[in-house]
Amino acid sequence: MTDTLIINQGEVRRLLPMDKCIGLMRRALEALARGDAVQPLRSATWLPDRSGLLGLMPGFLGQPRVLGVKAVTVFPDNHGTMYESHQGAILLFDVEHGQLLAIIDGTEITAIRTAAVSGVATSLLARKGAGDLALLGSGVQARTHLEAMRLVRDLTRVRVWSRNPDHARRFAERESQRHSTSIEAVSSVEEAVDGAEIICTVTAAHKPVLKGQWIARGAHINAVGACIPSARELDTPAVVRSSVFVDRRESALHEAGDFLIPKAQGALGDDHILAELGEVILGQMQGRTKADEITMFKSLGLATEDLAAAHFVYSSATDRQIGTAIPIGGQRHETS
Ligand code: NDP
Repeated sequence: MTDTLIINQGEVRRLLPMDKCIGLMRRALEALARGDAVQPLRSATWLPDRSGLLGLMPGFLGQPRVLGVKAVTVFPDNHGTMYESHQGAILLFDVEHGQLLAIIDGTEITAIRTAAVSGVATSLLARKGAGDLALLGSGVQARTHLEAMRLVRDLTRVRVWSRNPDHARRFAERESQRHSTSIEAVSSVEEAVDGAEIICTVTAAHKPVLKGQWIARGAHINAVGACIPSARELDTPAVVRSSVFVDRRESALHEAGDFLIPKAQGALGDDHILAELGEVILGQMQGRTKADEITMFKSLGLATEDLAAAHFVYSSATDRQIGTAIPIGGQRHETS
């Protein structure tokens, strides 16, 4: 029997650099579009008062061959407390006998892989010279998105807006120091996105914060925050004005309020989704075709992404002897 390796949050951070994760996500999205993955829709079990949920995200990836599930709680009100709003673990299983290989912190993988996927989207869809970034939100995803955007475009200006202006100001101070660059905290969304070439919406808002009329021609948007059918960060004109790309069509058609609410209003149809990112990577579908086009990547987050990142973390931890190995079980009990 192989022991099960436990890999904690700090260890994941050491083992999964953003630049590496962007490459892993590109390959995972490509594999998904080739059909080399099994990816059912996730399930969500809500607390009766809807203050939090437990999400289950199972999947199989063909290259590398890996089977697993992410169990993650989402408690949006944790922002500003010592707890992250996304907590949980990814369980990795071997595909020969189904052994439990690893239990890996899911908070850090979620934080890194989500921004890495937006990094892939931005490198595929934003204009080559796009360097003026607006971040809407100042939490975990804002931090990792800044890191990812810096890797895929030369940033010339960064503005951050947050519902609580103090949070935007603190984010700007902290991240300016971390990256030795200047980040401006601004007091309205309109001010943040005025002329912006890349916009990342990374809030837990349920109602639109970004209006279509404020978005500059030629901008690229990573719409990341709203991941359930009843929530959205963009208003209807913003989505109607945009060429929409997704991580996965099936997920977008079931889970993306940013898309489903305008659809229910009759403002657009399913054909408004132009392509999955993997289809663009494979060259099966076109990405941006005009400099003044507004492109939008609607991110929902996929088990396939978690598994690709978790498998890499597990392999690196094994090679570098990082993590804590414990025998959990799975051994047949001889009864005869
Ligand atoms: P955090 O809890 O760290 O930060 C939450 C942010 O949302 C804060 O900046 C907060 O602003 C802002 N916010 C909360 N409520 C509102 C509101 N009603 N209107 C405007 N802003 C609001 O969360 P994360 O950074 O981890 O996650 C951000 C969002 O991204 C969440 O909705 C999360 O579910 C989603 N997400 C999506 C993933 C994907 O794969 N697509 C993966 C992981 C997360 P302030 O502090 O100023 O109040």
